[in-house]
Formats: sequence, C-alpha cells, structure tokens
Amino acid sequence: MKAPVNKIIPFSNVDGPGNRTSIFFQGCSFKCWYCHNPETIHRCVNCGDCVATCPVQALEFQGDKVVWDQNKCVNCDTCIKTCRHMASPKVVEMEVEDILEKLQPLKNFIRGITVSGGECMLHAAFLKELFTEVQKMGLTCLIDSNGSIDFSRHEELLKVCDGVMLDVKAYDPIFHEALCDHSNDRVIKNLHYLLEKGKLQEVRTVILPKYPEENEETVRNVARIIQDHCDYKLLKYRPFGVREEALDKMGRVIASDEEVARLQKMAVEEGAIHTLIV
Ligand code: SF4
Ligand code: SF4
Repeated sequence: MKAPVNKIIPFSNVDGPGNRTSIFFQGCSFKCWYCHNPETIHRCVNCGDCVATCPVQALEFQGDKVVWDQNKCVNCDTCIKTCRHMASPKVVEMEVEDILEKLQPLKNFIRGITVSGGECMLHAAFLKELFTEVQKMGLTCLIDSNGSIDFSRHEELLKVCDGVMLDVKAYDPIFHEALCDHSNDRVIKNLHYLLEKGKLQEVRTVILPKYPEENEETVRNVARIIQDHCDYKLLKYRPFGVREEALDKMGRVIASDEEVARLQKMAVEEGAIHTLIV
C-alpha cells in the first residue's frame, strides 16, 4: 500500500506533546482561506509550469510526467511558489516500510509521530498499517485532522491511534462553508464521537481578525462541548504563506492580543479550563 507524502519533518515540537516526527500527506478535502500549506491541497497535474523555474534543474519532464530529482533539489521552494494548482512536484509515493526506514535513526530521539496534511485521514487505511508498526517501536501516534472524514468508520485505526488533534475552524455551518468550501457537519459529529471515545488529544481554532462574532460563537460552543477533557488551543491567524483569499478577506492584520485573551477567558468560564493561546 502506498500514500503520497508531501514532506517529513524529522523533529517538531509544535505537532503534539514532546519531540515528534511530522509526516505531511498530500491532498485535502477542504480549501481553507488561511491554509498555511496550500501546496498540500491538490495533486500535481503535470502542467510543467514549475520545470523551467527550478534554478538547479531538479525538475524535468519524463514522458508526460514532471519528475523531481531529490538529490539535485536545494529546497528553495521556487516550484511551489510557481504552482497555480495548490500542488507540489516534490510529492513522493511511499510505502509504510519507506516511512519506517526514515524513523529508524530518529526513534531514540522522539516521543512519537504526528500525521498531518493536507488531510491525512484521506489515507486512513495506510495510517492503520503505519501506526500498527510505529507503536511496535514504542512510539506514540497522533492524527492532526480537519475532521472531514467520519472517524466512527475507522475504529480499527483509532485502536492504534494515541489521540486526535482536531481543527474546529468554525461552529456556524454557513461561515464554515464560506471559510473552508465544505460543511462542518462531520467535524462537529467527529468532535462528539472522539470525545466519547476518549481519543481527543486537543482541539484547535484559528482566531480570525475581522470576524469577532464568528470567533466567539466557535470558541463558546467548542468550550461547552469539550469542558476539561482535553486542551483547547486558540491560534492567531497569521497572514504569512496563506492563499490570496485570506489576504482579500482579512488583510495582513493579526487578531489582537486583547481579543484572543478575551476569548480564552470566555472559554475557561464555559468550562474548557485547559484553553491555551499559541
Ligand atoms: S524546491 Fe527543489 S525542485 Fe523546487 S525549485 Fe527549488 S530546487 Fe527546484
Ligand atoms: S507542481 Fe504545479 S506547476 Fe509543477 S507541474 Fe505540478 S501542477 Fe504544474
């Protein structure tokens, strides 16, 4: 079994507790305005626009496919900046064994792995195989998800998963649809389901500038649901590396410290006592 991997970060301390290896899978079910990894959203369509822009000729056409030479690449990301399709030419189809091989030299220095994306749950069957093997190495396995895929249909995966870090981007379904191009119906169902199963590691909400009422509705409702059962992280929207839509809708401003502190206080008062600003 293979899955498309955009990149692997050997050591990360922002993707769950402790030092972790983060694996980013390609492809996403949402198209959020403020996505910080827009190059993970779609698969490459082999248009070739990026080939001539590579300063070290690490990209070339082989037949009708654009092929990346990892050994020549200097990771300047010019290709990603060129791409108009929210894709990357550097995606590698990997077997579970290929990832295990990369983890071998790291395993004594990390607490576990976190799978992200894109939306990693689009590759749920692959994750189950991967987690089964990674847990045998004595490492923990976390899922970072946008909540669009029904977790209740992946009970076998949850048995080998140590926790899910779930994004709740908006509680209002209409605003969520505008923000992510997708309904939040499944996200909210997953929130309740993962909570009930004891698999919710943390919930995250990005606090948007210019949308105070929507921020408040999301934070209030999430806090009422999760109470003290897991961490709730409020992340400030930052206008760097985001899609044009984010800049059109929210400009280059960041939600104020006062606004985020107000939302944190409200979440704590609603019962989510482990609410943090990150
Ligand atoms: S990231 Fe690599 S493949 Fe892409 S333009 Fe830079 S050197 Fe070329
Ligand atoms: S990565 Fe983007 S620009 Fe490059 S070939 Fe694929 S779709 Fe075209």
